[in-house]
Amino acid sequence: MNDIDIVMQNAANAFKKYALLTPAAKAGFLNEIAVQIENDRASLVKVANEESNLPLPRLNGELTRTTNQLKLFANLIKEGSWVEAAIDLADVQRTPPKPDTRKMLLPVGPVVVFGASNFPFAFSTAGGDTASALASGSTVVVKGHSAHAETSGKMFDAIKKAIVISGVPEYTVQHVLGSGSTVGKALVQHAETTGVGFTGSLSGGMALWKLANERERPIPVFAEMSSINPVVFLPDTLEKNAETLAKTYAASITLGMGQFCTNPGLLLAVKSKGLDDFLSLLGKEIAAVIPQKMLHKAIQESFARGLNEALAQKGIQKIGQSVQQPGEGEAYPTVASVSGKDFLQNPHLREEVFGPYSLAIICDSKAQLIEALTALKGQLTTTIMATDDDITAHGDIIHLQQTLAGRIILNDVPTGVEVCASMVHGGPFPATTDARYTSVGTTAIKRWVRPICFQGFKDDMLPDALKDNNPLNIWRIVNGEWKKNNI
Ligand code: NAP
Repeated sequence: MNDIDIVMQNAANAFKKYALLTPAAKAGFLNEIAVQIENDRASLVKVANEESNLPLPRLNGELTRTTNQLKLFANLIKEGSWVEAAIDLADVQRTPPKPDTRKMLLPVGPVVVFGASNFPFAFSTAGGDTASALASGSTVVVKGHSAHAETSGKMFDAIKKAIVISGVPEYTVQHVLGSGSTVGKALVQHAETTGVGFTGSLSGGMALWKLANERERPIPVFAEMSSINPVVFLPDTLEKNAETLAKTYAASITLGMGQFCTNPGLLLAVKSKGLDDFLSLLGKEIAAVIPQKMLHKAIQESFARGLNEALAQKGIQKIGQSVQQPGEGEAYPTVASVSGKDFLQNPHLREEVFGPYSLAIICDSKAQLIEALTALKGQLTTTIMATDDDITAHGDIIHLQQTLAGRIILNDVPTGVEVCASMVHGGPFPATTDARYTSVGTTAIKRWVRPICFQGFKDDMLPDALKDNNPLNIWRIVNGEWKKNNI
């Protein structure tokens, strides 16, 4: 057996025991991971800062988000109704007789989580994918991101302590490092792997998706990959609020040096005096932004290359760029504009440039704006900036935007993703490989489960969630009605 065989075999054996633990035991484990991370906060934040160049306040906030995610999933499974229990009782009088059928969601098995470079805590070793998978009852193998390998190792140390204190199986979570094309590939191809969570590049996500689908037994890959998060600015708000909009959007475009999957990379509007004012103010705001170091060398090089390619396209005009030249490893915050006509003729302009860059599309008419939106691929988010009068006059655009993305935002910025039950952080391809399952928020647990129907089972053979006396006291659909009481 090679190393990956050993890891995956351990994960499979641990799954057999971990999946059977009570919800309270699994919740206790998730809460204990949060405690152990909190205990090591100062040192974790320090190492992550050294490895990722992300500032300390941001990392402290991200660490809090990470422990809150773990606690959120602990509460979800303690409450228990997430299993979607549905019970249809037998009816022997019916012709033909109706059988007793009971359905719930059960975990799939060991899953592989790829750490994301842009969130060393919240989307990495003990991040959302790990928390949701552990909550579901799946065991986890983390492939740490090489750009923050030490942070990843330290997070795993916190998980290991929680494993011992909580008494869950030793290999409930494992951690490996190494290159994606060898270690990552072997993990995805391994027969014991039942699902994959990934955040990163389109090429990386698609490579893993292909590997997973070429297996003898294909498995799902939940990859979040590429999004330019179009923002539509309507005329009345541009006329009335150009200055506020420029400040708000300059801040959103350059937040975290643009290294967010929800970064607003495309701004769309119909030409007007209000739009001219907005773009001129936006250019000035961007010029005042100080370049900062990006996450790692490859991301900075990829941004510099992408930016140069984007700016070299036909019809592109730079409307603002940091007056301070970037130093080594730093990004060059930039906004540019192009006509709706040139945009429609050039698919290259619809590609993600990951970093602090945004392209404004100046449309001739509302019809051209609709054409430009229709030409876009699937997105994580789309935003509409509008007054009430704008909304009344543009219902068709708002409706179109709903077909485009997993989250539609009114009068706010797409950056900043709330972790809650109603969040959708997913979207049609190529934003993700599977728009049905969010990576942020409690419904992420559904990535790692499948429904199972028990037909004709005796009560004592059923999982607790489906037993007559409802020992977990969860909400269930019994003969078509939501109920908590005994049958
Ligand atoms: P990445 O290059 O896609 O890497 C993410 C993880 O996947 C790493 O562990 C990497 O392994 C692995 N991987 C990449 N290609 C693979 C392949 N062909 N086969 C197997 N495993 C593979 O992402 P990144 O390093 O985070 O950033 C690079 C680019 O990704 C950015 O410039 C940006 O365009 C994009 N990005 C997008 C988002 C988003 O949410 N939309 C977020 C972050 C990054 P290695 O350790 O060998 O690299």
